[in-house]
Amino acid sequence: MEIIPFHRPFIGKEEEEAVLRVLRSGWLTTGKETLAFEEEFRDFLLRENGKTIPAPPHHNLFCLAVNSATSGLHLALEALGTGPEDAVLLPSYTFTATAEIVRYLGAEAIFVDIAPDSYNMDPEELEKAVLRLRKTKDGEKAAGKPKAIIAVHIGGVPCNMPAINSIAQRYGLAVVEDSAHAFPARIIEDNRDKQILQANLAGMCSDIGVFSFYATKTITTGEGGMVVTGREDMVRRIEVMRSHGIDRSVWNRYTDTAASWYYEVVAPGFKYNLPDLLAAVGRVQLRRALELLTQRQIIAERYDRAFKNEGALIIPPPGGARHLYAIRLKEPERRDAFIESLRSQGIGTSVHFIPLHLMPYYRDRYSLKPEDLPQSYQRFRETVSLPIWPGMTETQIDRVIETVLRAFN
Ligand SMILES: *Cc1c(COP(=O)(O)O)cnc(C)c1O
Repeated sequence: MEIIPFHRPFIGKEEEEAVLRVLRSGWLTTGKETLAFEEEFRDFLLRENGKTIPAPPHHNLFCLAVNSATSGLHLALEALGTGPEDAVLLPSYTFTATAEIVRYLGAEAIFVDIAPDSYNMDPEELEKAVLRLRKTKDGEKAAGKPKAIIAVHIGGVPCNMPAINSIAQRYGLAVVEDSAHAFPARIIEDNRDKQILQANLAGMCSDIGVFSFYATKTITTGEGGMVVTGREDMVRRIEVMRSHGIDRSVWNRYTDTAASWYYEVVAPGFKYNLPDLLAAVGRVQLRRALELLTQRQIIAERYDRAFKNEGALIIPPPGGARHLYAIRLKEPERRDAFIESLRSQGIGTSVHFIPLHLMPYYRDRYSLKPEDLPQSYQRFRETVSLPIWPGMTETQIDRVIETVLRAFN
């Protein structure tokens, strides 16, 4: 029996050649490949966004390559000045990286439930959570003052950014988009309020967006990420903190022929740079991004057509990057047996996600019960992600469809 894995990265000859080119060049770490990757990524976003100047505050657009989206999210919150007095609002329905970076900085993670019939954060619940934080009375253990919101585009389906941004504006909060799944994801035109949002792409609709190039993501460098921001005031800090807190520009200001040995450490920064070896792979993957998206869209359309009339299932919301194809079982009790039956027939699946408020660390730290975020808990119990990777053959797609349908008949 041929195994159909849950995921398989799409890597071709060009990626192999790019790695060899860098290996033979004598320069492996961050250098001109990484700079070129940043520039090409920026060109891609501007081109796909369809505007030369993105939305304010994106008067300019900066792309900073990092060694993972986790690093990028950490740098984003750090540059916003997040500290131990602060609270950061984010969905429970996400991967643990979204929350751990809040804790790295000593701030508290405030979990917000997802919207009914969605995998994304519910703006109404978000506003309630902000108001609850502001109302904490004296004597009560304060959960921190609201500082920032992390919007996660689950499966690459864009969050309701106009609603999230207007809440942020009302209460003076920063917004970071965890766009790990959302490269590239177009915001549906009639879904956006032009007053608040002028960008067309997920990751460009807030203060800072962060993309992931982890092995399973829509484009990959094995490990890697990209921080995207229009806020010039953030860029310098992110650049410095990405490389040990080393600031070379201090010296550059005083001399044209910068001494290559001189540097100043202005903060205990991190080691978060993306090496050329990986950036070279990213440059090739970036050129494939739209073709890979089309392939995922074709698979999703095939699945949609096959499953939309199956009464036991709910198909995923349309649009976006199609990073995941997560079906919902109307009878959650059957979920685990369903996964097992697919596994026994050689089909890999996954569950996105086990909500963070069920995880021992967060559950215990914040005394949370599963029902405290009822939609997240419910979605978790009913969801299964099916294989959706470019390179799947017609036969493989058909086999997934037949096996899924057979499980219910
Ligand atoms: C994968 C993922 C991340 C982290 O990405 P890395 O590049 O692996 O650090 C963050 N958030 C979400 C929602 C993810 O799925």
